[in-house]
Amino acid sequence: MASAHGATITLADGRELTDGMASWWCAIHGYNVPELNAAVKAQTEQTSHVMFGGFTHAPAVELGQRLVRITPEGLNKVFLADSGSVSVEVAMKMAVQYQHARGARERGKFLTFRGGYHGDTTGPMSVCDPETGMHGLFAGFLPVHHFVARPPAGFDAPLEEDYLKALAEAFRLHAPECAAFICEPVVQGAGGMHFYNPAYLRAVKDLCEAHGLLLIFDEIATGFGRTGTMLAAEHAGFTPDIMCVGKALTGGYLTLAATLCTDEVAEVINRSEARVLMHGPTFMGNPLACAVACASIDLLLASPWQERITRLSQNLALHLRPAAQMKAVKDVRVLGGIGVVETHERVDVAKVQAFFVERGVWIRPFGTRIYLMPPYIVSDAEVEKLCGAILEWVGRS
Ligand SMILES: *Cc1c(COP(=O)(O)O)cnc(C)c1O
Repeated sequence: MASAHGATITLADGRELTDGMASWWCAIHGYNVPELNAAVKAQTEQTSHVMFGGFTHAPAVELGQRLVRITPEGLNKVFLADSGSVSVEVAMKMAVQYQHARGARERGKFLTFRGGYHGDTTGPMSVCDPETGMHGLFAGFLPVHHFVARPPAGFDAPLEEDYLKALAEAFRLHAPECAAFICEPVVQGAGGMHFYNPAYLRAVKDLCEAHGLLLIFDEIATGFGRTGTMLAAEHAGFTPDIMCVGKALTGGYLTLAATLCTDEVAEVINRSEARVLMHGPTFMGNPLACAVACASIDLLLASPWQERITRLSQNLALHLRPAAQMKAVKDVRVLGGIGVVETHERVDVAKVQAFFVERGVWIRPFGTRIYLMPPYIVSDAEVEKLCGAILEWVGRS
């Protein structure tokens, strides 16, 4: 590619592609956004980077304030990390240090849903789905944690008693050695684009409280409006103990993530023997990344983002619906700004990508999931074009 603007990516040979991926779900405002360009330029003239040990600065403080404001009530402490995976590592270390400080040194394991994805570094990898993740390849290197089946499919599907029983049983068996339960609320992203009823999260929260586990929400994919609410936690209606945000945090400009926690979690760690959270990345709180994250959040809040997501959702549902009748298709589902066509057979990524490029769209499926997560600023015609290309592909296969 050579350049990108709005929801259009221009290739080196001049061809233009409509973007259905938002660069792995980050570029929510599209590309080459004047407000974000200006924020980066202005910050380079102040400071591009300074060590965060001993120093703090306005972009980091202002970002912290914004994150506390837009996340659920009670998440008042913010740790800045350099990528989503690192923010998950930090969340896991927070949970272990918290338990350690309370004298529960035996609680070094985690409990999680199967089918999850939490990143590619060691800690996150160990709580990714054991089958589709890299557990086989890195067996012997990865720590071993505990898994429970993922909640049954369907955002609106009625709760299943049998599943709630299995969940309670998993806690009964494994909770005494676990520091926390970690999951992606409402939507499991890279683990399968799986949507589930937020009421299951309430059940998890109650079990965590009963068994002394912290609850970590990984909102790296779901944060900043993607599921129709600012954070997916809002569907569940309560505040987790720890939350990770990343991906769309900087509007897709620079790598940055954050781990938020409650005052209680922070105070227990600060009162402990270690006195601080034992993690300090070199590029922690990078001013350029923080400044563009502030500008991205401001731009999102100033935009009619809820109406945009509602409209995007309606357009995805309308234009993907015909796929449900096609024999290659197993399921079609839409939630917020996410549209998924699940096929029976695995798709050949190289082949399908070439087909889509020929049709003037950028869509990169995985496994049996052909999905769209476009920038929020896509036009109705662009969504129709993206969906039309998917229909054409699945109609032929
Ligand atoms: C992408 C993702 C991560 C990892 O983030 P990176 O920035 O790629 O390290 C973690 N959790 C979820 C839910 C993600 O979607």
